Amino acid sequence: MPEGPSSDPGAVARALARRYYCPSCGNAALETLDHKLYGCSECGHTYFHNTAVAVSAVIEHAGAVAWITRAQEPGAGLLDLPGGFVERDESLEAALVRETREEVGFEPQGLGYLFSIPNRYLFHGVRYSTVDVFFSCSVPHRVPFVPNDEATALEWLAPSAVDPSRIAFESTRLALGRLLRR
Ligand SMILES: [Zn+2]
Repeated sequence: MPEGPSSDPGAVARALARRYYCPSCGNAALETLDHKLYGCSECGHTYFHNTAVAVSAVIEHAGAVAWITRAQEPGAGLLDLPGGFVERDESLEAALVRETREEVGFEPQGLGYLFSIPNRYLFHGVRYSTVDVFFSCSVPHRVPFVPNDEATALEWLAPSAVDPSRIAFESTRLALGRLLRR
């Protein structure tokens, strides 16, 4: 899952000191109360900057897992599991199928919940908290891969064959550790 372009504490402090427009009254009067709660000094509205949810697919076939090479920043050129953010009004399962279809061109089968890992990242000066939800799934056979906007390559690698330094995000590195301990 995406992590920040920056974990610079100064950037976090600057982001936290910034005022935002209130979604209720429209005044630039929304101030940070804590990392997820914003209060409006004009109308008293309270805005919750809630945790975002992302899904990742551990697609297994013949002892290997499908790893993509990310086409876009953050983490362009590094390994990732297929997946992405859950959209509004979308289930975790539907998001996983949509993202997998977009990135590797096939539909995963037999979805099963594995575990979830909290994550944080700073994006355009705003710090987001996410929870990354990992699912196991399978494919009947290895479908030919076509490079696309989100993935430049697809590799089938056994968990023990993955170099952790090639992985784009910390939550995915932790997930690899859990897969190795299964
Ligand atoms: Zn307001």
